Amino acid sequence: MPNGGPNSQAILVVGGGIAGISAAVETAEAGYDVILLESSPVLGGRVSRLNRYFPKLCHPTCGLEINYQRIRGNPRLKMFTMATVAGVSGEKGNYTVTVKTTPRHVNAKCTACGDCAAAATSEVPDASNYGLTTKKAAYLPHEHAFPMRYVIDPSVIGTPEADAIKAACKYDAVDLDETEQTFDVTVGAIIWATGWRPYDAKNLTAYSYELPDVINNVEMERLAAHDGPTDGKILRPSNGEEAKRVALIQCAGSRDHNHLAYCSRICCLASLKHAAYVREQYADADVDIYYIDIRAHDKLEAFHQKLKNDPQVTFHKSKPAAIVEGPDGRPVVKGEDTVTRDVYARDYDLVVLATGMEPSTAGFDLPVTLSQDDYGFIVPHVEDTDGMFSAGVAQGPLDVSMSVQSATAAALKAIQAVDGA
Ligand SMILES: Cc1cc2nc3c(=O)[nH]c(=O)nc-3n(C[C@H](O)[C@H](O)[C@H](O)COP(=O)(O)OP(=O)(O)OC[C@H]3O[C@@H](n4cnc5c(N)ncnc54)[C@H](O)[C@@H]3O)c2cc1C
Repeated sequence: MPNGGPNSQAILVVGGGIAGISAAVETAEAGYDVILLESSPVLGGRVSRLNRYFPKLCHPTCGLEINYQRIRGNPRLKMFTMATVAGVSGEKGNYTVTVKTTPRHVNAKCTACGDCAAAATSEVPDASNYGLTTKKAAYLPHEHAFPMRYVIDPSVIGTPEADAIKAACKYDAVDLDETEQTFDVTVGAIIWATGWRPYDAKNLTAYSYELPDVINNVEMERLAAHDGPTDGKILRPSNGEEAKRVALIQCAGSRDHNHLAYCSRICCLASLKHAAYVREQYADADVDIYYIDIRAHDKLEAFHQKLKNDPQVTFHKSKPAAIVEGPDGRPVVKGEDTVTRDVYARDYDLVVLATGMEPSTAGFDLPVTLSQDDYGFIVPHVEDTDGMFSAGVAQGPLDVSMSVQSATAAALKAIQAVDGA
């Protein structure tokens, strides 16, 4: 365990999404000891739950697996999953960080054979699918999980089901007695890469998120994913029929002082990607995109133009006023087109709300005082503490490539902080 004492050159990275992973491997490969903490059972963060990601529309594994290899091959990097920060004291060069781990109930002997899941009888919500499906109480978070190790859900601990799960394991990998642990590490600098969560669409009462065929944009990623709830077929959640008439609602809660006052930067491109998912699956699909204005940054404007040239994708300059349930149960989008002044009420198989990214630290008491902006994003270089930095969406709405750039910047600043300490 890196535990440098005063003038420590070890660096702590909090959050194992693409930003935290990038910051950790860059720092470790530069020759520094690194501790990486991830609160969930797996690394990869929200990117691992995308179907494909722009600019190249590749599967998340193409960016993540190479980094997992770098982690596996670097003895300077120690990672802890199901771990977070309970307290921080000290100063640049000499922070004492209290780390808290929650039990996985499965140790490193796990071979991911799946016998424990076969023995489990109860089901729990599947976080990897944003709760669209359930999974067994002994589960692998997803098929590309890193580490590739099962988890026993705490809801079954102390029950006969847990005993059956343990008995099913041939490798003595199930540890029902594992408890929460805390321990201290000493580090010289800290990078906060705690990422984001989707803005809660339930707050958008006019948009009827409670209707089964009204979903948000991260759920759309799962509907299109081959390992998602519908094996990659874009189907209506209400009845399993093919979703061929699809509405994509931009700025659902974004740029709105009642919800998120800022632009999340990536939602327009995510919705263009979702239009492409639908059109690839169904030659006779019709997709309507409702927008205030389309913000396609950098070279991704070409992707926007490609979709604009598709006669089966229609752009409506309008922020819909409401989504209601039609007589046949289908969602109906109502509003006024700001260019043509037409008042519309159109029904769809599926409506996707492009909700924005909210910092995961918003609304929570952090274990240390960090400089945050009005929305809860952590400023990139926390001036008053000097040895703390932020990376990825923890510092503001960024796409993957910008998150990785910010992580490299944070890694360099952390190295400078511990070298100058
Ligand atoms: C619908 C949608 C589609 C998108 N599609 C694309 C795309 O195609 N291309 C693209 O470039 N970008 C896309 N993005 C943006 C992309 O998801 C983000 O850029 C990326 O997730 C940022 O990674 P991150 O590491 O900063 O945050 P995250 O992915 O959120 O990772 C943060 C990690 O930190 C962990 N964590 C949080 N708090 C703690 C704590 N206290 N202790 C320990 N761990 C903690 C979390 O569990 C998580 O694993 C999309 C976003 C949305 C909403």
